[in-house]
This record gives sequence, C-alpha cells and structure tokens, in this order.
Amino acid sequence: MEPQVKQDIRGWYDLREQIKADLARSKKKNVILTEINQLLILRNFATLRLKGFERIPASQEIARQWHEGEGVHFARRIRQLACHYQLFEQLPIEKRGGDRGHSLLNDEHVQAAARQYLSGLAAGEVTPKLFRRALNEQILPTLGFHLKTGLSNRTARHWLIKLGWRRTRLKKGVYMDGHERPDVRKYRDKEFLPRMAEYEKFMVQWVVEGKGQEMVRKEPQLMPGEERIIPLFQDESSLHAREYKANVWLCVGEQKLMKKGRSRIIHVSDFVEEENGRLVIHDEHGNIVKDAQRINYPGSNGDPWWDHIQLLSQVDNAIDIFEEAHPDCVALFVFDQSSAHASLGPDALRAFDMNKSNGGKQRKQKDTVIPMNNPTAELRSKVQRMTTDTGEAKGLRQTLEERRFNITGMKAKCSPVCPFENDCCCMARLLSKQDDFHYQESLLELKIKARGHLCIFLPKFHCELNPIEMYWGWCKYRYREVYKEKFEDAKRVARECLDACPVEVIRRFFNRSWRFMDAYRKGLKGKAAEWAVRKQKSHRRIAQSAMMSIDALVS
Ligand SMILES: [Zn+2]
Repeated sequence: MEPQVKQDIRGWYDLREQIKADLARSKKKNVILTEINQLLILRNFATLRLKGFERIPASQEIARQWHEGEGVHFARRIRQLACHYQLFEQLPIEKRGGDRGHSLLNDEHVQAAARQYLSGLAAGEVTPKLFRRALNEQILPTLGFHLKTGLSNRTARHWLIKLGWRRTRLKKGVYMDGHERPDVRKYRDKEFLPRMAEYEKFMVQWVVEGKGQEMVRKEPQLMPGEERIIPLFQDESSLHAREYKANVWLCVGEQKLMKKGRSRIIHVSDFVEEENGRLVIHDEHGNIVKDAQRINYPGSNGDPWWDHIQLLSQVDNAIDIFEEAHPDCVALFVFDQSSAHASLGPDALRAFDMNKSNGGKQRKQKDTVIPMNNPTAELRSKVQRMTTDTGEAKGLRQTLEERRFNITGMKAKCSPVCPFENDCCCMARLLSKQDDFHYQESLLELKIKARGHLCIFLPKFHCELNPIEMYWGWCKYRYREVYKEKFEDAKRVARECLDACPVEVIRRFFNRSWRFMDAYRKGLKGKAAEWAVRKQKSHRRIAQSAMMSIDALVS
C-alpha cells in the first residue's frame, strides 16, 4: 500500500518524539543500518530545527558532521528525507519491481501527445475511461511503448490530474502552468500584493471568532477624511442550457466553455463584494430592485457575444449602484488582466501589432510621449508621432530608431514566442517594454478613476485570488443538479442559482482569497500556499504556527 500524506502536518517537536520511538524499535529489530542512519539524521534535523536553525543551515550542519567535504548534495538529500518524513511520518520505501507504466508520464513525448489528444476533445467530454483507451490503443503504441497489460483506469485518472485536468466537482487546484512565470510573479509580488495590502487597511474585515463560527465585522481604523474601501471582484462565466451532468472533467482554467453540442449558452458577468454578497440594492422587503449583474444569451438569433464595450457599460451602471448602496465609500474594482488588455481602446499602443516597416496593413496607433527612462536623455518627454508625414502607420524600426536604440541585426519579432526575462530579444519586445507602451491605462481604468474610484488587475493565472471564481463554482454545482427541459427552464434555474449563494458563504470565499494573498506575501508557493490556506480556514491570514510546520511543503 502506498503511504498517504498525513491530513495534518505536524511540527518538529511532535515528530522528534516519534522519530525517537521509531529509532528504539529499529534498534531492537536489528533493521539494516541505513534505516537507523536515516532516523538518526532525522532526529538530528528535528533537534536543530527546534533550536532555531532554518532548513538549509540545519541540513548543512548535519552534512558537515556526517560527510566532511561533500556537503551540498548530501544536505539536499537530508532535506528531501525530512520533507518526506514530515509528510508521511515514515521513512521512504525503496521501490521494487516495475510500476506498470506509471512513470511513462515523465516522458515528455508521452506528455505532449496526451495533452494534444485531451485538448482536442470538446470541453466536458474527457473521462478517465476514454483517456485510458486512447493511451493504450493510440498514444502509447504510436510512440513505441507496448505495455503487457495496458494502463488501468486508475492510472488514467492519475495522469489526467497530473496533466492539469480536474473533475469540476472537486475543489479546483490552484497550481497551474504559468503561475510561477517570472513576469507573472514580478507583477504579483512587486505591484499587485503591495497595493492590495495598502488598500486592505481601509477595508472592513470579516473574521471568524470563537467556536460558534460566527463572522464578526471589524471596522478599519480610519483617520478623519479617509474613506472606507470596498473591493468588488468582477468576472464572467458561462452556463450551458442543457448542462446537468454532475461530473465532467475540465482542464483547470477551462471554465469558459463556448460550445458543447447545440446547447444554448447563458453568459453572466457580475461582481461580488463582502457587504451584500453581490452588488445589489434591496427594497424594504428584501427584494432585489437594482442589480449590477448582466446576463445574456449569445449565439444564433440571440444576443451578441460579450465584449469589452458591454463590460464598460456594465461598470458604469455598477458605479451608480455602488454609490447608492455604499455612500461615502470608495470602490476598488478588481478585474482579470485580460479585461485590461481588451479595453485599451482602438488606437492603443501595441508593439506586437506593428510591422517592421512603415505603412501596409498595420493599424494606426495614437501618438505618444517618449518616457523619462529612455536611454537618450534629450529625447525624454518629447512627443513621438506614430504616423509618418505621409499619413502611414509607423513601423517598429523607425519608432525605435527615433528613440535612438541600436537595433542593428535585431529581428522584428521572435517566432513563435519570445523567451522569458529577455527584454531585447526582438524589436517588438523591446518597444513593448518601454514605459509608454508598457503602462497604458485601459479604458476601464480611465472610466473608474474619472468617477473617483480605484481599479486593479489580478496577476495572470491566479484565479484563486478572485473570490468570484468560487462563487461561480458554488452556483454551477447547484445549476447542474437540476434537469432542464427547455431553454426557458435553464434561464430560470440559472437566475435562481446565481441568487441563492448566502452572503456569509461569499465572505468565506473572500477570506480564502485574502489568505492566498497573505501566503504569497510570506513567500509560500504552489502546494505550500494551498496547504496553509486550507489549514487556516477561519482566518484571514496565515499564522506563524502554521509557517513553522511547513518545511515539508517548501522545496
Ligand atoms: Zn522577442
């Protein structure tokens, strides 16, 4: 039997007692020396950690004691051993015999082929059984792998999860491709999180107090003249009219389904907030009289597809409702990055839309001002026309040369994409990183600021920071449980489900997102952040005691 990760990861004080007991038992049973050595090392590690050594110095100290000279590799193995023990509370079991194809997924060709196969299927069609058959009959044989017995459904299910597919009924994992991309992390850690921390000082906090699990409202400490901030998280989601299967397998992040058979789509764009749950105004009987939510039914002879123009008009209306619902408060609108991108306006500066040379089919862009960090000082703050004297759109080469960049031998654009963390791999990337191109205010930002409110964009790939994602999950779960005969039924059920989520539940979704932000500020990532957030269910922050038992998850 495979060992299971302990539900509750314990600190080194408890574990040291257990290691001592294991050690006493091993000595009696005459077990092989390496096992005793491993336990001695672990006991040592636990002692050092309790004395206040950090993980790495602790492992280095032990490595120094055991093997003089060859420290680095051995110290790393000690940390791996400690990590394993903290997770499983037992020593690693040496693998014997084959693993019936389990490790095949480590092969990058198998991974790539499996991904292509899966993403070629319509959303919602993926099942472990279908995947298993494809692997055994199609994918593996074409790659030259022949298994005697074939993979099992269980393995197929395992692989699906490893490849990023989740059964939507399960809680959505947060670990996604791109989460730790350097540019994404930089925006998250240097801009998004510090700004949110600043805004949080002006927000009401809802904290769980005592055994009763009641949420208590904590007012912010405001100075005279300061205004309370209420965050509003926006997002969009689609429901399928005939969707009632409780279990479908979707790739993480694949919630925006567009087509599934001939089923009609119900598209929702909405905001959640901690005061009232959704951005609404009730009358004295508790009926909703004003609602910032927008539902439409796109598709053939239906409404048009949702776009940024509709979002802008929704935001206008949302500000009206907000100011009526929360007089004397400032709204902090939180959007997905893609919304910012989409609403830059028709003449936005976009380096990747430009050609190398002037003219041709490229879009004309607005004139700009050369930013203050341009390498050539005398050009700074000078206006740069983005059309030529003959009225043609300016290309990359002339735009950069006018800013006196040396672009000799530089290609126009990388193909297919630019490498990470390289700002001058090509002309388009170089220009896109200039401040005037990089920090453009979107129409969303301009509109919101003009009306005296605040606006911020979530880092890419971080849907766990948006509480509305959990709200969608909550509503969709209920929606799928109901069988809908006609499209009219589907519309009614959708509205009922979207209105059914209690404000108390939405506040808990918010707290989960606040905890993720706190975990990232404390340097946790991936699984460790997820674990810390789960562990501290009733709080808004990650406690120090939880940080202490987290060695196991930080790798
Ligand atoms: Zn490039």
